[in-house]
Amino acid sequence: IFIAFEGGDGAGKSTQVALLADAFEHVGREVVRTRQPGGTDLGAQIRELLLHGDHVSPRAEALLFAADKAHHADLLIRPALTAGQVVICDRYVDSSVAYQGAGRDLGADEVHQIQSWAVDGLMPDLTVVVDIPAEEGRRRRGAVHDRLEAEADDYHEAVRQHFLAMAAGHPERYLVVDGTWPPEEIHREIHRACTVRGWL
Ligand code: C5P
Repeated sequence: IFIAFEGGDGAGKSTQVALLADAFEHVGREVVRTRQPGGTDLGAQIRELLLHGDHVSPRAEALLFAADKAHHADLLIRPALTAGQVVICDRYVDSSVAYQGAGRDLGADEVHQIQSWAVDGLMPDLTVVVDIPAEEGRRRRGAVHDRLEAEADDYHEAVRQHFLAMAAGHPERYLVVDGTWPPEEIHREIHRACTVRGWL
């Protein structure tokens, strides 16, 4: 089982990743919790370049995110799935499509092609979009921590709308939850979606 979490910065994805991992462990499943960018040693170096380096040209940015994904999918996600583990990933292909495709105006279709080539077509069984308005995300983040968080609300709102559009296009593969709800209630929704699929 491969589950990805997507959504704006400050949406509360990591809290939900942790709650869902606990739920799977509670029923005796082995869980691999990971994230993009940064789920491998090489990924951690790429993450540093992307978030704390100087300006990165938009296409270079898209390719660095793709390189992180390629390595992560090959070294960590695919082997874990083969071993029967549950993989829960904080961000995946859709983040690139939304941030680099829609946010940076590189073209969502092109970015999607590059990213799915990078992961050799490995897509999640379920993608959970934790949705919050850009303004609320900014309020929650408080001080800016990285280069990408520092983007204007317009950028983050374009990204948000793109996540919602992707989810609307494939309701069977997505669950959209309202990130402004209390964390326990959001978790209940996600838990229910996993129960319906016979996973929990
Ligand atoms: O959620 P996380 O802290 O891992 O994200 C790191 C940063 O990278 C965030 O500011 C996010 O907006 C950005 N990001 C991005 N494109 C991606 C993935 C993350 O701009 N494909």
